[in-house]
Formats: sequence, structure tokens, C-alpha cells
Amino acid sequence: MLIDHLNRQRLERQAQGLTRQRRIAESPCAPRQEVSCGGQPAREMLVFGSNDYLGLANHPALVEALAEGARQFGTGSGASHLISGHSRAHAALEEDLAAWLAPCIPDAQALYFCTGFLANMALLTALGDASATIFADKLNHASLVDGALLAKAPMQRYAHKNLTVLERQLERCMTPIKLIVTDAVFSMDGDMADLPALLALAERFDAWLIVDDAHGFGVLGAQGQGALGHFGLRSERLIYMGTLGKAAGVGGAFVAAHPSIIDWLVQSARAYIYTTAAPPAVAHALRESLRLIQSVEGDQRRVQLQQRITELRTGLATLIAAHPALEWRLADSRTAIQPLIVNRNEAALALMAALDAQGLWVPAIRPPTVPVGTARLRITLSASHTAEDVELLVQGLALAARQMS
Ligand SMILES: *Cc1c(COP(=O)(O)O)cnc(C)c1O
Repeated sequence: MLIDHLNRQRLERQAQGLTRQRRIAESPCAPRQEVSCGGQPAREMLVFGSNDYLGLANHPALVEALAEGARQFGTGSGASHLISGHSRAHAALEEDLAAWLAPCIPDAQALYFCTGFLANMALLTALGDASATIFADKLNHASLVDGALLAKAPMQRYAHKNLTVLERQLERCMTPIKLIVTDAVFSMDGDMADLPALLALAERFDAWLIVDDAHGFGVLGAQGQGALGHFGLRSERLIYMGTLGKAAGVGGAFVAAHPSIIDWLVQSARAYIYTTAAPPAVAHALRESLRLIQSVEGDQRRVQLQQRITELRTGLATLIAAHPALEWRLADSRTAIQPLIVNRNEAALALMAALDAQGLWVPAIRPPTVPVGTARLRITLSASHTAEDVELLVQGLALAARQMS
């Protein structure tokens, strides 16, 4: 019965071009990766699909720091943070993160989580009680949506970046606590939220602004401080969530906020309390990652990334202009997430397959991850890509465009 039920749904998805499949990376995360798929032998591919924006995921200093962390702290934490799993490595990492975010959030404290998904669950369920309302951008990440659905607070969604709608919703809101929740860099479009305007609304309506900076932390702002630094924001009303498995190249996430907020998460957030603490060695490696991000080497990597973004956008703009009939378009993005929107699911899959045949791996993203009719290739760039890598991608897309025209 269950199996029939599942198989029926799978067939429906198949008919819509919506089935998903995993590939196996046989080598570390890098632009050139050994990849196998569907039992075929592994082959080297040029990959534009990771969120390893600074190319730190296989950095020798981080590999060494993780090994050193394991020698010093072992492999497992043994328990959740409130039982006996909270190690010196976790505590030290939280101090480093708090100090780094303190210029943006006065007296900030930080709390480390196993993943960003859990951090968002924890935040929204712990703060979104029955006396609160959650205001959420329509294109927020799935973990923010699910966190809000699990919270007692009602959720009001506003059209993507439509602050007029948000303002009206805030005006009408009768609950004493108001939580505005947004991605800083939207994960499937690469565009940025207008955080200064959102913070101004929060101040005007006595609301709080929860910022998910999964794609900005380490990349944006001076020394990679993230979206708050990028906009030069400073306020007690900011609640910041940064992930540490993307630009930081290791894993996990953190929330930085007013000490009372952090304490309330420790007291009450089930997604924090009822899960085993991440291996302390991971926290130890992350301290080294933070040092790298803030160093001159980090600056150089951010400059390289910016160059690749410019090169890719220039190349794609020329390509799109040469093939108007395909109706491809670039998103309004200045970040390392550069979607090429091709509209139909089948077009996205055909384009991914055409690139695949050339040894290029760029993931196709389809509904429900993105709105119906906006299927796309989600091209992501890393500081470890070279100008030649970007040129190969643009040429590969040009060949595919001629095949599909
Ligand atoms: C990746 C991502 C998350 C989840 O973080 P993980 O550490 O991967 O669980 C949350 N929000 C956004 C916007 C993301 O892109």
C-alpha cells in the first residue's frame, strides 16, 4: 500500500521532469572533481555547483586543523550540549564568532549549531511563540519556511522583496512581538535583500530582523564579515544566522544575537537541546577557517571570486543576446550565485545533460525549489575557479545553445 502510494507519486514527478538523482563525488570538493553517476565509471568533471565560495573546503590548513582537533578532542562529542557534549572547542568557537559580529550587534553572543537547517528551526520555534507574528519573504530558504510552519506564531509571507506589502502587514499586526525573517542573499536567485530598509521597518514597528546569511558569511563585507558588514549595519534588533559549511568550508552554523536571545535558545530550542553536539574537532577546524577568512589570503580569495563573477556575467550576457529565441535570462545577481533561467523543467534538464556530455557539471534546479516556470541552471562560482574554467563554461553553454536552437 505505502510502496504503491510512493511509486504512484514518483511516476507523477517523472512525467513532470521532476525526479532527482544523486551523483557521487569520488574526490574532495574542488572545481575539478572525480564524479560517478548511475553505476558509470568515475570521470573528471569541471564543477559549478558547490557553495564552497572561497575554495576552503579542501584547504591544507583546515585539513590539518581538523586532524589536530581530532587528536586533541577525539572524534565524537558524546552527547548534546546541555548534557555533557559541550567542549572547550565549541566554547572557543562561539567566543570567536561573537567577537567578530560584535561590531554589528552590540554585546552579541553566539551559539554554534550542527547545521543551518537546525539553527533556523531552533530560532523560529524558540522566538515564534503565540505572542509573535513571523513576516517572511516568499523566496526564503526552505529551512526558514519549515521553521516558521513549526512555530506557534502565525506566518505572513510577503512577495519577494516587496517592502510595501510588508509595511502594510506590520501596520495591521496586533501581536506584541514581530519577527521579520529574510535570506540576505537568496539561495536560488543570488539577489540580495534590502537589509537597511528592512532594519528601518523593524525599528519603526518595534520588530526584530532575522537575517539568514548562508551565502554572505565569509564572502561579503570587509574581511568576509557578511551581509551586515557589507551594509554597515549595527543594531540590537538584528538576529544573525550564518552557516559554516559553505564559504567557511567545514560545517555547521551559528546564531549571533543579544545575550537574552542566545540564552533563550539554550533554554528552550528543541532543535538545539535534543541533538548530539557536532564533533569538537569540527569546531576546532572552524576556528582556523575564521582566521583564514579574515586574513590577507581571504581578501585575495574574495577578489578572485569577484573577478570570476564579472567574467561569467559578461560571457553569459553576450551568449544570451546571440540566442534570443531560447528566452534564457540572467538573474539580477552580483553574488557567486549566478542562475541561468531557462524556464521549462525539460529545458533545464536538457541543458544540464548537454553540459554533462562536455564534462561540465552544473545543477538544474526545478520546482518546488523554485517557482513553476523558472527552472534554471544554478551556476555557483568559487575563488578556486580560474578565468579559463569560466571560459570553458561559457563555451560549453554556447555549444549547447546552438544545439538547442
Ligand atoms: C544552505 C542554507 C541553509 C542551511 O544550512 P545548512 O548548514 O546547509 O543546513 C539555510 N539557509 C540558506 C539560505 C541556505 O542556503
